[in-house]
Formats: sequence, C-alpha cells, structure tokens
Amino acid sequence: MRIVEDIAKNIAHVRARISQAAAQRGRDPDEITLIAVTKDVPGEKINAAIAAGITDLGENRVQEALKKQREVVAPAKWHLIGHLQRNKVRHCLTNFALIHSLDRLSLAQEIQRRAAQRGVVVPCLVQVNVAGEKSKFGLAPGELEPFLRQVAAMQNIKVCGLMTIAPYYDDPEAARPVFRRLRELFEQGDYPAGVSMQYLSMGMSNDYTVAVEEGANMVRIGTALFGKRQN
Ligand SMILES: *Cc1c(COP(=O)(O)O)cnc(C)c1O
Repeated sequence: MRIVEDIAKNIAHVRARISQAAAQRGRDPDEITLIAVTKDVPGEKINAAIAAGITDLGENRVQEALKKQREVVAPAKWHLIGHLQRNKVRHCLTNFALIHSLDRLSLAQEIQRRAAQRGVVVPCLVQVNVAGEKSKFGLAPGELEPFLRQVAAMQNIKVCGLMTIAPYYDDPEAARPVFRRLRELFEQGDYPAGVSMQYLSMGMSNDYTVAVEEGANMVRIGTALFGKRQN
C-alpha cells in the first residue's frame, strides 16, 4: 500500500500549496480544480489517486484515456488536455467532461459536424499559445477574438474558457507574465454571446502556484502527484 500512501501524501502537499497560493490572493481554494494528469501512469496509481480524493483526471491521448476509463474503479471526470486530431473527434463527443485543447478552426468544424450528428453539445476550452512557442499548439492571443466569433456560431460547441501551457522555466516566476496575459484575455469581457468564460486552465507541476496566484481555477498536474514519467 506504499503507492496509495505516497500518492495521498503528494496530493495533500499539492493541495496545501494551492490553498496557500489562493489565500495570498484572497481566493477560496475550493474554486480551484486539481486535475491529475495520468499520461503514462498505470491504472493502479490512478485508482490510488481516486481513493485519495481526486475527482478529475487529465489525459493527452484519446485512445489512452478510453482504455483507462475502463480500468479505473470509480467514476471520475475526464479532461482531454492534449492536441486532438480530427480523426479522433468522434471518440471525444461524450467521453470527456471538458476538452482543453480546441486550437484551430478545422478542429472546431469537425467537432461541430460530429456533435450535431449525435445531438450533443461539447464543452471546450480554447488553447492559447501565449508565449508563441513554435513547439506548442494554440491560437496567438490576437487570433482569439475572431476565432471565438466563429465558434460562437457553432451550436454544438460550448466554449467555457481558456487554456495555456507556459514554456518550461527553471524559475516558475518567469512564467508569471504568460499566466497574467491569459487571465487578461479571460477577463476581457466583450466576447460573443454563448461564450462563457468560466474556466481558466493553467499551471503544471513546475509552475502551478504562480498560475493560481494569477487566477487559474484549473491546474493540470502529473509529475508532482505521480512522480517522474518513465519516458
Ligand atoms: C503532461 C501535461 C501536464 C502535466 O505536466 P506535469 O509537468 O507532469 O505536471 C499538464 N498539461 C498538459 C497539456 C500536459 O501535456
């Protein structure tokens, strides 16, 4: 039962740091959702996390997520946080509580087309590449408004907020301007009707305290909960 104890301890530690960062800004820590990122994590550890109170799980790849959804013993909310290929969209319409990686118009069009066929509405966050890194997906900040206008017209997609992945810095303070910029976009306000800016998904193991200080209400954490990934 070592695994269960270790993971429970990690979760408690991360939650304590989230609470501390929230308190610094006078925020209620309960408004921040801790998403445990389970990529390359075996089912046994995921079940340990659920036993220790985790309710939300994040996966990068669709097939891996679907496989794990069958392995876990308790119901959880699954978040798709990785880049989504159009040919996988049909698997994502009802299997995820939230897709964090809506990052291009062609993807939005495919989600809309498939979701309309199935008669479902798919909740999505728009991924913004705030720092403009070549290696990352997401819209440039300046593309966000026109994109939201186009997606707002798609009846079977519900935009519920924004997501970003900050560049990796040894000093997480360096990521603060990235998080602040996303928060500004989140709060900007004059978005089309139907767009509801409810979730701000930012912060990973290395930088989540800074992200919470800057307003994140969803953090996506893998390594700090489950240890270093094997590959
Ligand atoms: C892997 C991943 C995470 C978690 O990363 P850690 O550094 O292990 O916490 C969060 N978000 C996305 C999009 C990821 O791919």
